[in-house]
Amino acid sequence: MSGNRTFTMIKPDAVGSGHIGAILAQINEAGFKIVAMKYTKLSKEKAGEFYAVHAARPFYGELVDFMSSGPIVAAILEKNNAVADFRTLIGATNPAEAAPGTIRARFAKNIGENAVHGSDSDENAAIESAFHFAGTEIFNL
Ligand code: ATP
Ligand code: MG
Repeated sequence: MSGNRTFTMIKPDAVGSGHIGAILAQINEAGFKIVAMKYTKLSKEKAGEFYAVHAARPFYGELVDFMSSGPIVAAILEKNNAVADFRTLIGATNPAEAAPGTIRARFAKNIGENAVHGSDSDENAAIESAFHFAGTEIFNL
């Protein structure tokens, strides 16, 4: 049975382009509740730690530089089947392949600067949520 929470970040490209409000509206309209949220900036070290699973990939350095290049919005989202439904809402990693109307199709610039992050499993949603939020910053609405 799939869990009810996932973790997301609005990435520096979408924040810089002024899309925070539109992306949060689309998330709410799709039925997700925001149970935790912060506007913050990742250090290079923190961005490297967050994406450590990709350390061996050729784009890792670029990814870490990009994710620490400006502010992000981090949030924990709640909905039935949250991880899979949110991946559907954001669309494919490469916006050229993302389904029309998805967040990445609407707002992403390219495969690297792709507007949003979404957890890929319940386990990673829990790990990523704990990376960004203390228990006192998470609300049961
Ligand atoms: P995210 O984990 O950010 O939600 P994802 O799960 O769709 O994205 P991953 O394979 O986990 O995709 O890649 C993590 C991030 O690394 C991507 O969102 C993108 O920003 C960057 N990335 C992935 N592939 C490439 C690539 N070929 N070139 C440049 N950047 C890439
Ligand atoms: Mg991923």
